[in-house]
Amino acid sequence: MFAERFLRRLPVVLGLIVGMQDSLRAADEKPASKPVASEKSEGKSAKPAAKPEAKPAVKKPAKVSREYVSGKKWDEPKIVTPGAAGAPPSDAIVLFDGENLAKEFSGGDGWIVSDGAVTVGGKGGVESRRKFGSCQLHIEWATPKEVKGEGQGRGNSGVYLMGMYEVQILDSYDNKTYFDGQAASIYKQRPPLVNACRKPGEWQTYDIIFTAPVFEADGKLKSPAAVTVLHNGVLVQNHFELEGGTFYDRPPAYSKHAEKLPFSLQNHGNPTRFRNIWIREL
Ligand code: MG
Repeated sequence: MFAERFLRRLPVVLGLIVGMQDSLRAADEKPASKPVASEKSEGKSAKPAAKPEAKPAVKKPAKVSREYVSGKKWDEPKIVTPGAAGAPPSDAIVLFDGENLAKEFSGGDGWIVSDGAVTVGGKGGVESRRKFGSCQLHIEWATPKEVKGEGQGRGNSGVYLMGMYEVQILDSYDNKTYFDGQAASIYKQRPPLVNACRKPGEWQTYDIIFTAPVFEADGKLKSPAAVTVLHNGVLVQNHFELEGGTFYDRPPAYSKHAEKLPFSLQNHGNPTRFRNIWIREL
């Protein structure tokens, strides 16, 4: 009799148990309902019946978003439109666009402009008509496709920053020479970090960031020249501080000179080609 009555009420008992479990679970989950407050602040649906408690429950994000501010006042970086691959940016001075060498360079008798490039020839190098100090210089060059000579006699030229600090140009593709005289070396001062030379005849790029040296009034060196070079996009000189001018027949040395000077391209008797030369003053 009792058993029969119990079995009849069993569903009710079970229902009560389940109900109790639900309530307990809801109680457990209560703290998790706090984020609803933050959802509210994000404009998400909030129950209108929510208690308008003024408890500052959303203090946590304030701690996270405490930001370091240096306090230094910077000028807004100027907007510059980068050039398409290989093309100059909007604020560059184009020194050679493949057509007119004489406009921006003096010398070069015997240098031949054709097909958007200039080939070293005749005697003597070329010198920029404008003077530069610290700068970013982009220059594209190609050593002769027909390989002649060896060592320093193959595709030799050079970029002489301020007319006296040479970033070497040479066909260093399968062509051994002294390391501090191969392509992308700072001549007789520092070999490149790696040899990133392309094959003879192929166009190569130099992106040179040059910091001009500074001299005291009495001629003493205040801060040396420094150069960073990317050869075909590969870092080969990383802010190398020069020991002075780069010379063939004597050790590097500084001697006081003007803040700005022309840069030059060397004629070493090899028909190296140049194109797409542009510069940004720094
Ligand atoms: Mg040279």
